[in-house]
Amino acid sequence: MESVFAYMENYDYENLLLCQDKALNFKAIIALHDTTLGPATGGCRMWQYEGEMDAIEDALRLARGMTYKYAAAGVNLGGGKAVILGDPYRKDREPIFRALGKFINRLGGKYITGEDVGTTLNDMEYIRMETEYVVTLPTYLGGAGDIAPMTAFGVIRAMQACCKRVYGSDSLEGKTVTVQGLGAVGHNVVGQLQELGVKMVVTDIDSQKVEAMVEKYGVERVDPQAIYDVECDVFCPCALGAILNDDTLARLKCRVICGSANNQLREERHGDLLEQKGMVYAPDYIANAGGTIYDTDRLGIGGVSHERGKEKVSRIYQNMERIFEIADRDKMPTYLAADRMAEERIREIAEVKKYRDDLRP
Ligand code: NAD
Repeated sequence: MESVFAYMENYDYENLLLCQDKALNFKAIIALHDTTLGPATGGCRMWQYEGEMDAIEDALRLARGMTYKYAAAGVNLGGGKAVILGDPYRKDREPIFRALGKFINRLGGKYITGEDVGTTLNDMEYIRMETEYVVTLPTYLGGAGDIAPMTAFGVIRAMQACCKRVYGSDSLEGKTVTVQGLGAVGHNVVGQLQELGVKMVVTDIDSQKVEAMVEKYGVERVDPQAIYDVECDVFCPCALGAILNDDTLARLKCRVICGSANNQLREERHGDLLEQKGMVYAPDYIANAGGTIYDTDRLGIGGVSHERGKEKVSRIYQNMERIFEIADRDKMPTYLAADRMAEERIREIAEVKKYRDDLRP
């Protein structure tokens, strides 16, 4: 990125804030992309960047990603992101997270933060000491607690919609699903798929996690590198990004790819290649939105409701159906159709918002 303003202009960013406190050795960036639908919302990442321009670009890029994620999920929030520059394992966390909380509070609700790479629920508690504008809190602070089961549920709803498109039925019973990664989301996916009568082949680089799943659910296991060669109906990546690339696309033997991992396509062209190969890809940010949808649901009318939150996550099925409609209508791959769905929603809601309730000049 050569010019911050040119980048912001190009992608229509609203605001970028640089925060620092020398005595605390605290440096943070808050990026607000688009608040058409609601306050800019998105987690706080803590990372050691090569340079401060890398950190700014990351904050901006991630904030824009959140705009699309919420818009496509039907959630009335805008996109934002905070980045703290520093060692994610830094020990003296209370002062820096409380400092960030102070800065967020000054924005008066225009930005809502949450947990992300390098930050924990504990850190969110420190932020909560200074501001109410924080999600991903433990249940004893009014938050949703562990959201991974809902992320997993959303992945499965997306998977059902993909199977309907490819196999004509959304029943997963008797289907074979390969699951890559048995962490917070992956092990919940396995548990929930088991209840739906799915056959599974699983892998993880952590053999203890694999053994736990084999023992608990009687699933099959393969070595991490062999997962791409297993004949299956659905490949469910729940570990790393960039796993859809030239190498793996030549090997995968499935017709549906649907998992929670972020940034699954190594390059956009791999999204086009998938289509050409007749595979159906559930865009990652659509399939993995369940936890976020559930977690932010309490910000709307009526406070916390497990039933309503789960019902909203369940609508990921309909979101996928809409993506297929747009993909067919505009003759484009699903990863682009997802972006278009988000953009259309933002445009439409902006149109609704022009009708002011207050007609005074
Ligand atoms: P996690 O760290 O709990 O689990 C990841 C698992 O993948 C670990 O068990 C790890 O050992 C395994 N793994 C790493 N490299 C591997 C490899 N080469 N082959 C096989 N397994 C490998 O993370 P998570 O919270 O379960 O998230 C998984 C993915 O989903 C990430 O990409 C994350 O960004 C994304 N995601 C998670 C959530 C959520 O609610 N936790 C929400 C949205 C997106």
